[in-house]
Amino acid sequence: MGNRKAAYDSLTRLRDRKTFFEDVREYQATGGQAHIIMVQLTRLINVNRQYGVGAGDGLLKEIAGYLAQAHPDYRAYRIANSRFMLLGPQCRQRQAEGMAALLHKRFEQDWRVVHDEGSCEAKAKAHLVHFFAQPGDSANDLLDKMNYAMTVFPVRGRSGVLFFDGEMCDALTHKQYVMGEVRFAVEQKTFQMYYQPIIDCRENGFVSAESLIRLVGRDGTFISPNEFIPMAEESGLIDDISWIVLEKVCEFLGEHPALPIKTISVNMTGQQVLNPVFEERISENLARYHVAGERLRIEITERTVTENFDKVKQVMERLGEKGIRFYLDDFGTGYSNLSSMLSLPFEVIKFDQSLMRIMMESEKGLLTIDLLAQIMHVNDYIIVAEGIETRQQDMAARERKLDRIQGYYYSRPLPGGELIRFLEQEARRE
Ligand code: C2E
Ligand code: MG
Ligand code: MG
Repeated sequence: MGNRKAAYDSLTRLRDRKTFFEDVREYQATGGQAHIIMVQLTRLINVNRQYGVGAGDGLLKEIAGYLAQAHPDYRAYRIANSRFMLLGPQCRQRQAEGMAALLHKRFEQDWRVVHDEGSCEAKAKAHLVHFFAQPGDSANDLLDKMNYAMTVFPVRGRSGVLFFDGEMCDALTHKQYVMGEVRFAVEQKTFQMYYQPIIDCRENGFVSAESLIRLVGRDGTFISPNEFIPMAEESGLIDDISWIVLEKVCEFLGEHPALPIKTISVNMTGQQVLNPVFEERISENLARYHVAGERLRIEITERTVTENFDKVKQVMERLGEKGIRFYLDDFGTGYSNLSSMLSLPFEVIKFDQSLMRIMMESEKGLLTIDLLAQIMHVNDYIIVAEGIETRQQDMAARERKLDRIQGYYYSRPLPGGELIRFLEQEARRE
């Protein structure tokens, strides 16, 4: 790599981030595909906490020293606090893997760390990601690849080393497409809301509906919320989406004051409940569309209420005073502690579809649902069975005394106008 003046990281004396990208660009100009290895430390903070920041610095210097001489063909860089890079020439896949394996082996061993009271041996856990830079890859493309690799590392990097292959490139391109469509839909508010009616077994009539977001890309492709909602949660766009959803649902409720169901529920995350503007936003929307709080329900998934139970409880209680109640969604899929969950003032517990499947599979499954239903009923919760698709499932849910049922067996999620027609038809049938 040419005669350009390199800049150095002051702590480790390795070349810095700017120099790394300049060197990659220079290599690309030769037409070659450089081999890039990212070393992302994941436990630096633990060393800092345990032995002090001086020790953390010492560890970084140790690692830098090792990387600088790891292989004569590779040059080392420090491009972020705990991110190192190695840049080597184009090589065969086997050689590239060999180099990554060599680093991995070293990171399995301890490092000597000097700290205020002396020195010790410490582990420095690292995620290793490697790939060949493509001729057209800009600095941002490379960063996108590295960051994407970090998000999938827990699943795809179990061995400690992840090679960013063509399949991952495709997955990243698809994710960028989806995020582009989500951003566009947020800006233009082009999301649509569908509503799935929920039947009450005792009243034998529909009493509520769940609002479900729909996104159609500009090319006409349907993009499932199961795909884009987790991405929106990860990127923070979920807040914007939820405020749009809340407004659309309140608008719909306001336009149809005589809707023959009592409530409509909206999906939110536990994180949002903790957002300081959460209560204000809800009150604003209810007031703007002249909707009573009694008509609004909020679903939060078990997965997203994992911390700050006391705070979540306070918000739930304050909104409860306005008539708004909460549903615990996807019960049976999370990892939360049952007793903490039951300390929150939920009105409804939604048994996830996976529990309904277990119910149909064996005697043991039936018994489990029976017992869970008893626990919920002792605690005065109303149970909604989700994902009921067949007559047999419907009968089993009713026999287990599950209070309400939601599923394709009764209706798929419908656009607002169709929901109204559906409910009118049902009312005539009664
Ligand atoms: P969820 O809140 O548990 O919603 C129920 C999902 O089950 C919906 O999928 C619904 O269409 C589907 N479903 C209902 N009945 C049946 C059935 O009988 N069989 C099967 N196989 N599926 C059934 P959908 O609309 O694709 O939404 C998926 C998830 O995306 C939702 O799960 C929810 O977690 C999230 N989501 C949807 N809309 C929103 C929204 O407006 N905001 C947020 N934050 N999340 C949303
Ligand atoms: Mg839901
Ligand atoms: Mg659910």
